[in-house]
Amino acid sequence: MDTRDFIMIEDMYGAHNYHPLDVVLSRGKGVWVWDVDGKKYLDCLSGYSAVNQGHCHPRIVRRLQQQAKKLTLTSRAFRNDQWPLLAKELCELLGYEMVLPMNSGAEAVETALKLARKWAYQKKGIPDGEAEIITCANNFHGRTITIISFSTEPLYRREFGPFTPGFKVIPYGQAEALAEAITPKTAAFLVEPIQAEAGIIIPPSGYLRKAWEICKEKNILFIADEIQTGLGRVGKILACEYEGIKPDVVVIGKSLGGGLIPISATLSSREIMGVFRPGEHGSTFGGNPLACAVAREALKVIQEEKLPERAASLGEFFLNKLRTIKSRYIKEVRGKGLLIGIELKPEAGGARRFCEALKEAGLLCKETHEHVIRFAPPLVVKEKELRWAYQQVKKVFKQFN
Ligand SMILES: *Cc1c(COP(=O)(O)O)cnc(C)c1O
Repeated sequence: MDTRDFIMIEDMYGAHNYHPLDVVLSRGKGVWVWDVDGKKYLDCLSGYSAVNQGHCHPRIVRRLQQQAKKLTLTSRAFRNDQWPLLAKELCELLGYEMVLPMNSGAEAVETALKLARKWAYQKKGIPDGEAEIITCANNFHGRTITIISFSTEPLYRREFGPFTPGFKVIPYGQAEALAEAITPKTAAFLVEPIQAEAGIIIPPSGYLRKAWEICKEKNILFIADEIQTGLGRVGKILACEYEGIKPDVVVIGKSLGGGLIPISATLSSREIMGVFRPGEHGSTFGGNPLACAVAREALKVIQEEKLPERAASLGEFFLNKLRTIKSRYIKEVRGKGLLIGIELKPEAGGARRFCEALKEAGLLCKETHEHVIRFAPPLVVKEKELRWAYQQVKKVFKQFN
């Protein structure tokens, strides 16, 4: 079977909820992936940053194999010997006191929202059922009905209502808008340190700190969704470190599973997380020993291979390289660490055709929204591989000019 056969079968039987590039991958190693026809590509998406450690990282694969033979799932009805150790290591690494494990990012965001509401009723005395949570325009926090209830992207919402009430949307990057939106019923402010899915939107410097100070002053939980920005992608273990702030609640996922297995987590203080009582929230697979063992190794790799430091220095190198490309179609090249976007002008005719041309040149990139090409290779990428990638990007822009 070749690429066309697989595409035909997928389109016949698989729901059409994605619009993938026409490449069918069957193998990956580090930053490289191979398609079923044997062609090799540099992965510049890293599974939306779930593969920060690189494809099939040998240490993480070995740990998965060992644990798979030993114990994989107990449910939280019983305890296992991996979850306590992951909980401790995660809290120590990120500087928190308690953590709640889930599987997907969206579930961890839902956990943070439930936590904020319960905290507001118990600790702030907001009347039950009336808490409000403030979120930002152009956010991406996942796909559940509650989460899309505060999305501002029509495509994510259309014909999926009725929606969950209790959310207020304000512009991103303006701390004054947050100050104005707060009422006595406000429980929390949910924000992405960088809006990755919206097209690598980096807020003005000082914004997160200002917003955090406002939350402190008004006794509102500052919840950072670091599912994509966290664990090294932008050059720090958490993006919020750039502004020297510690969110009350932080949500992580994606590369916590080393690209092998879904696992996510919501972290907070003992005081806040302590509002959850047995039976109030949970997940069958959350905290399973297989995922926890993999996550423990995935975190070790991030630290021992200094992936945040690599992202910071290689990201700056690659960003500066990309900025030298001259094209009448480029509006802006921006990024932090190895989360980089090239925003195209409207006359470029959309980022999709560029991604298709990049694919032919051996780079797998995905357009975010219509006009941004995202570059987010695994953090194990080498400088010489980024040099090569830059040559390909330059060539593609030359081709279109
Ligand atoms: C990917 C992502 C999510 C959702 O994670 P899933 O695992 O797809 O549910 C939430 N927030 C941010 C910022 C993300 O990038």
